Amino acid sequence: MSEQGDALLTHVSEQGDALLAVDGLAKHYGGVRAVDGVSFEVPRGSLTGLIGPNGAGKTTVLGMVAGAIKPDHGSILLDGRSIAGLPPYRAAHRGVIRTFQAASVFPRLTVMENLLLGVPPWSGEGISASLFLRRKWHREERAQLMHARELLDRLDLTQHADSFAGELSGGQKRLVELGRAMMTKPSLLLLDEPMAGVSRTLVPVIEGLIGELREEGMTVLLVEHELGVVERLCSPVIVMAQGRVLIQGEMAECRAHPEVRRAYLVG
Ligand code: ATP
Repeated sequence: MSEQGDALLTHVSEQGDALLAVDGLAKHYGGVRAVDGVSFEVPRGSLTGLIGPNGAGKTTVLGMVAGAIKPDHGSILLDGRSIAGLPPYRAAHRGVIRTFQAASVFPRLTVMENLLLGVPPWSGEGISASLFLRRKWHREERAQLMHARELLDRLDLTQHADSFAGELSGGQKRLVELGRAMMTKPSLLLLDEPMAGVSRTLVPVIEGLIGELREEGMTVLLVEHELGVVERLCSPVIVMAQGRVLIQGEMAECRAHPEVRRAYLVG
């Protein structure tokens, strides 16, 4: 554990065990130190905020945890087991699911089909999907359909189930993306600016939904620029600037920290 990590983790370790532990994580692009020795923990069952000015390195950190970006250095432990450098599909198998800054849906598939694409592979998939397993396969399929219908209802998208996802508003696409992530029942949900491109009316809906996920015990790492949202939803909060972690703590503590103020003023 790095010296910086030791100092920063004190606060979080008191709250319970970590689902995600990142230590000394680094990613450089030529001379750009996008992420430069970052250490933090995400406590199990927490909704942890990851904030910082533009270019701080937040998306690059999410990309490394989700397997889309290979770290140059550092460790990433999920439940004590390394996931550093795993390709995204293997990180997803381990329960790490990510949403993107621009809501990503399959525009020529229906809303229902988009949700069902989030389902992890059937246990009867592939060679073993033989006659013997057909009944089990159908049972799983029915269960997933029911789960998808429940989610559509919860997301107020039932009336759009058969519409092409590409026809929805930006906020509704975001709801579809969140629904697809929820279909997988992730162990760690990484949300990259879920309010981006969402109309004012849908922002509180998405905020409420994320709050509910926290109440249900899901572990979430949330990148968000709107600090009011972070203050209402997140504990703890990690603040990054210029590829490094400045502080980790409650939002009120972070706001008061002089380095955080300076980082936000400088941008
Ligand atoms: P924002 O809030 O604006 O999305 P961020 O905190 O998510 O910013 P990153 O997108 O992780 O920041 O970028 C961190 C730094 O790394 C920035 O200076 C960015 O320009 C640089 N960077 C990110 N990806 C690449 C890349 N593929 N090649 C070169 N530089 C990159």
